[in-house]
Amino acid sequence: MVAPLPSSPASSDMVLRVRGVVQGVGFRPFVHRVATRLGLRGWVRNDSEGVLIRAAGPAPAVEELVRALSEDAPPAARVRELEARPAGEDDPGPAASFTIAPSGPGRLPVATAIPPDLALCRDCRSELLDPHDRRHRYPFINCTQCGPRYSILERLPYDRPNTTMRAFRMCPACAAEYADAGRRRFHAQPNACPACGPRIALRAASGAELEAEAALSGAVGVLCRGGVLAVKGIGGYHLMVDAANESAVAELRRRKRRDEKPFAVMFPGLAAVRLAAETSAESEALLNSPAAPVVLLRRRPGAALAPALAPRNPWVGALLAYSPLHVLLLAAFGRPVVATSGNLAEEPLCTDENEAHARLAGIADAFLDHNRPIAHPVDDSVVRLSAAGPIRLRRARGYAPFPLRLPRRIEGCWLCVGAQMKSTVAVAARDYVALSPHIGDLEAAATREVFQRTVSMLGEIHGSDFTGVVCDRHPDYASTRYARATGLPCVAVQHHLAHVLACLLEHRREADGILGVAWDGTGFGEDGTVWGGEFLLLRKGEARRFARLRPFRLPGGEAAVRDGRRCALGLAHAAGHAGLGALGRRLGFSDAEAGLLGSMLARGINSPVTTSAGRLFDAVGALLGLGDHNRFEGQIPLALEAAASGRAGAAPDLPLPLRPVPSGGGAAAELDWEPLIAALEAGLLGGRDPAELAASFHVALANGIAAAAREAGAGTVALSGGCFQNALLLDLTSAALGAEGFEVLVPRELPPNDGAIAAGQALGALWGLTTVQPG
Ligand SMILES: [Zn+2]
Ligand SMILES: [Zn+2]
Repeated sequence: MVAPLPSSPASSDMVLRVRGVVQGVGFRPFVHRVATRLGLRGWVRNDSEGVLIRAAGPAPAVEELVRALSEDAPPAARVRELEARPAGEDDPGPAASFTIAPSGPGRLPVATAIPPDLALCRDCRSELLDPHDRRHRYPFINCTQCGPRYSILERLPYDRPNTTMRAFRMCPACAAEYADAGRRRFHAQPNACPACGPRIALRAASGAELEAEAALSGAVGVLCRGGVLAVKGIGGYHLMVDAANESAVAELRRRKRRDEKPFAVMFPGLAAVRLAAETSAESEALLNSPAAPVVLLRRRPGAALAPALAPRNPWVGALLAYSPLHVLLLAAFGRPVVATSGNLAEEPLCTDENEAHARLAGIADAFLDHNRPIAHPVDDSVVRLSAAGPIRLRRARGYAPFPLRLPRRIEGCWLCVGAQMKSTVAVAARDYVALSPHIGDLEAAATREVFQRTVSMLGEIHGSDFTGVVCDRHPDYASTRYARATGLPCVAVQHHLAHVLACLLEHRREADGILGVAWDGTGFGEDGTVWGGEFLLLRKGEARRFARLRPFRLPGGEAAVRDGRRCALGLAHAAGHAGLGALGRRLGFSDAEAGLLGSMLARGINSPVTTSAGRLFDAVGALLGLGDHNRFEGQIPLALEAAASGRAGAAPDLPLPLRPVPSGGGAAAELDWEPLIAALEAGLLGGRDPAELAASFHVALANGIAAAAREAGAGTVALSGGCFQNALLLDLTSAALGAEGFEVLVPRELPPNDGAIAAGQALGALWGLTTVQPG
């Protein structure tokens, strides 16, 4: 222990606390470089709260360091908080120079941001391709600016012994780089080279095994022959086939038992993307960003991509080769490949060689494996662009688990278990909430296992026992059952309220003077019906159901979620149309089917009441003949959006009036879709183009939301829920609200869909805002 320096106006000795994403992004080497340049003495170290620095020297130099911490930090770092205090007796003293000290203890009752996995950086890419570099063509090259992070992290702090890289002992050359503050790999935890690091191997179903360059060329051979290649990447396995080979793509679809859900396509570089799809400066920047997400782009007519990639879908989900292994593979193959998650149907991603070989045995012809263990599965993130910026459809690799800040400290440590279909879980402690990457649909037992592993991992990483749990109000969600079974104090937050709260969380707004528009497919309402077209008015910390879509019934319940034609019959029934036979025939039902559905509706048998906007989209898609089934979630709405894109400007206005609901009706007002449906039907009879009618439908919804906002009288409108994955609806609604002077909050950091529910639940628990009162 060294006493603090005598303080004088000319010298300063401070302890600086930095919080945010500051581990695993080259932050300590950066601090070391700056402090050394400024001639400061002291140390920097990681601990469970982030980074702690002691800096002693001339006062202006210490001030310069403080400035540099927030302004010059490495690109992947995010400094959220910076606190400074004078050094005291208890602080370990500064040595004669500035050093990187060993990390502090990991299990403190606090936690820090866990760094996300980062795509191959420019410097490492040039070394990878440099024949004179010792890592020439080494598939695991990385540095402090790039490489795996969350996917190899087992506990905090982020140091090599706490990652799956601990099994690899660094060779003298790597160890020297790791210890040299002047080099790019100073304290790069996954640092490795061909002599000491992970290796690849190609394993064929025949049992043949190839290594290194032979493995790569063997893998390219599999793709060239039209085979299915399983490739172990950063957060799990991909299944890859030649994206231009129609029969290979169709065969992958058949083996994976995947109907029509689009496959993502990995491209060797931007030039190849530009040939296949329309790009912009913004989409190219996203593709090239350290997160390297899948970006939805409009496919060019005549692009050399197999139609089976995304049947009847004008978009293509494009991503760039982002790990060095992907870069080498794609460069050797020379063309884009399908890169879909390595799983069967809706099961979770495979991460382990043995597991992959067993589960993907009937799907992959060969496996390109490596021996760097993956600690947690992480899917590719998916982003699309709207006029106002990117919408994160799936928040996973590169983004999660970056935490969001709570507006104030929460007592204890809360586990938020989210929803069901796009499951994510979150931990709220102190003043932050850390949201896991996308987990998947909890319907599958294997996904529920990943859910449980994610919960234990978050508990482990955050180093404290959970004091409570927050869940959805839906009694049959697997997450709700899990929450109830923990025996912990349990709080249930209404689904659509959680959507709105997630939006407020990321925009750091209070629950006052806000109209939350929560439009999605399905959520459990306070009155036991299926909600999904909700307007929640938030005032002074309370939520009321100000308005809703006019209710209708879904004949067959779940069956109507897959069959938009049933939703159309539900609308006709609610509108009081006598006899559904003619409509049923037009929609392709037999008279017997239409009769059965009609009597189910009339008697209310297995025909739940809903206000779902998602189901309204399904019904309209079926009525306009643009799509009758959701073979994957959101297929009909996507077809409606695709048809309407580019036509909204010229689309005639159609009515969607807001009408008062008699008191005791549950909401103050409702948007009545009946005149809108009648106008669409009349347009269709009059020979109007269904695509133009689809555009009019979108415009009517946007105007309807604006009408509800005028009536509600709140100055700010928060848009949330899965319907706002629809970029056209989001843009039209934002524009309609903006034109009338409303402030509009839209999901940016978090997905609009159920992937954000866990984050919203955290805010609900903090504020004790869990219930929606009747309007
Ligand atoms: Zn790098
Ligand atoms: Zn080495």
